[in-house]
Amino acid sequence: MIEKRTAAVVLRARPYGESDKIVTLLTRDWGKVTGIAKGAKRSQRRFVNVLDSFTHVQLYFRPSRGDDLAFIFRCDLIRNFRAPGQDLRRYAFASYITELIDVMIAGREAGTEAYTLLLAGLTTLEEQSVLSTIFLPAFTLLLLSSTGYQPNVTECQHCGVFIGANKGASVFSPSRGGLLCPRCHDHGGMTIHLSDDTVQALTASRTTPPEDFLRIATSLRTARETRAVVTSLLSRHLTRPLKSQAFLEQLEAFSDSHVDGPQGE
Ligand SMILES: [Zn+2]
Repeated sequence: MIEKRTAAVVLRARPYGESDKIVTLLTRDWGKVTGIAKGAKRSQRRFVNVLDSFTHVQLYFRPSRGDDLAFIFRCDLIRNFRAPGQDLRRYAFASYITELIDVMIAGREAGTEAYTLLLAGLTTLEEQSVLSTIFLPAFTLLLLSSTGYQPNVTECQHCGVFIGANKGASVFSPSRGGLLCPRCHDHGGMTIHLSDDTVQALTASRTTPPEDFLRIATSLRTARETRAVVTSLLSRHLTRPLKSQAFLEQLEAFSDSHVDGPQGE
C-alpha cells in the first residue's frame, strides 16, 4: 500500500527497542493510528520534536493490515502546544482529554469530529487565559456525543413526552441516558437533578461549535451538574478509571486547599 498523508495529533509514544518508538495518533482522515517510527530516537530529520504528546503534526505513513502496526515514515511539525509544558493544571487537562480520546476511540471508524474536538481542546488550553469552569465536562460531553452516547434532553426517557427547556426540576437518569418528565421521576434508578441553565447548556452543546462551547461562561452549579451527568455516562462506557483522573483529582484537591475566597471555586 502506498504512503498516506494526513494531519494528526500525537496521543502517546513509547520507546521500542534500541532506536524505535511506537506512537499512537488521532488522525484527521484515518481515525486512531498506532505505528512504529523506525529510528525515531536517532533521526533528527524525520522525527525532530514531533513525537511528544499533544503535538500537532503532518503524518506520512503506511496503514496497517489487520492488527499490525502502521509504518510511520515521517512526521512534520504543524503546531507545538506549549501551555501543557508550562502549567501543571493545563498539563493535567491535556493529559485527561488525550487519554479520554485514546480510550473512547477504537480505530479507523472514528470520524473527523473527535479530531476536530481534540484540536479545539488543545487550542483552548493554549490560548484561553482563564479557562471556563465547564471546560473538562464540556469536552467530555462533546466526545460522548461524537461517539454516539449523547444524553437525550428533549424527550422523557420513560414515556417519550417532549420536554422543553425552562420547565424546572429536570431530572436526569444515567441508566436511561437522558431526562425524565415530572410524572416519570421514579422510573430511572439513581437520578441527578438539573437546573434549567444546565439543561440549556446540554442542549446548546448540540449546535455550538466545539471551540465556542469549550469556552462558554457558566455558573459553577451548571459546571458541577454537567460534570455529574458526563461522569455518570462515562462510567457506563469505561472499563477502567483513566490514569490521568487521579492526577487531576490530586491537583484539584491541592488547589482547593490553597486558595481562599470565591476565586478558589
Ligand atoms: Zn415521562
